[in-house]
Amino acid sequence: MVLVVLALDAVDVRHAEDFGCENILLDEHTEMKSVAHRLDHPHTGEAWPSIATGLHPTEHGITGHGEWDNPILTVASRAAHTLNVSGSIRSKVGDTIKENTNQEWKLTTVSDPTFLDGETRAVHNWPGVYRNEALQYIWRLFQDAKDDTISKETFVREAYTEAASKFGWVKEAMTYNVEVAATHIHVLDVLGHMFAEDREQYREQYQKIDERVGEIRDTLGPDDNLLILSDHGMEASWIDEDEDYGSHSWRAIASSTVGSPPEHALDVRDWVEDHVEQIEADRTRADLPEEQLRQLGYVE
Ligand SMILES: [Zn+2]
Repeated sequence: MVLVVLALDAVDVRHAEDFGCENILLDEHTEMKSVAHRLDHPHTGEAWPSIATGLHPTEHGITGHGEWDNPILTVASRAAHTLNVSGSIRSKVGDTIKENTNQEWKLTTVSDPTFLDGETRAVHNWPGVYRNEALQYIWRLFQDAKDDTISKETFVREAYTEAASKFGWVKEAMTYNVEVAATHIHVLDVLGHMFAEDREQYREQYQKIDERVGEIRDTLGPDDNLLILSDHGMEASWIDEDEDYGSHSWRAIASSTVGSPPEHALDVRDWVEDHVEQIEADRTRADLPEEQLRQLGYVE
């Protein structure tokens, strides 16, 4: 039995309902309460490590949009967020720092236990937990799209092909002896920000992702289960009356094929443990031609 966990960034339960996304909504769904510490709304960088650990951002310690190599620059970057400096100005500040100091921006990962730990739990990128590079790649391109260094069309293509690599990964991972196959997919976050004023374009993105989720749902065996989670939703001009559309809403989602989904981000870890069927890792040692690999420099 495999429990597939799709971390669909920014899927807003209200939009999924309004657009009739039957696959995203699965058998049962709920508006899941998320967490926020640094800002007054949930944010990708701190919500996903909370979902994986069951700990509040103040407990797991990843509260920033990212961390700079140099702690002084981390403080400066966080202060810019707290003061609500606009994204474009903040990015320019970041670019200036990069140009002038050669500091690279990166997300750090938690040291606390998560439901993604262990040899029989397969994971492919999870912000703040395991390999942030896919998220960072998309964020970097998003900046390029805002700066007009790449076209909107190129950005949309890259967002979807990156997402496709995760959907394909899930299908492959499910064919192995694993308890959990989990991945994070960022496409509806960045395209949500892009189309938060255009209901038709926005609906199109939801329908496309709903189809991809349907393909995963179709490959579930009789004992396999699917849990879908988001970290926040997206305020949109046709729903949210303040001028804040394009920013994160509190309308996160949890849906599942197996009973009631978790109601709170901090309950997800326990929920997963309650729904996983534990298996023993096969400890057969890989028989490798050690001497040849040593000569090639592959092993020490
Ligand atoms: Zn997010």
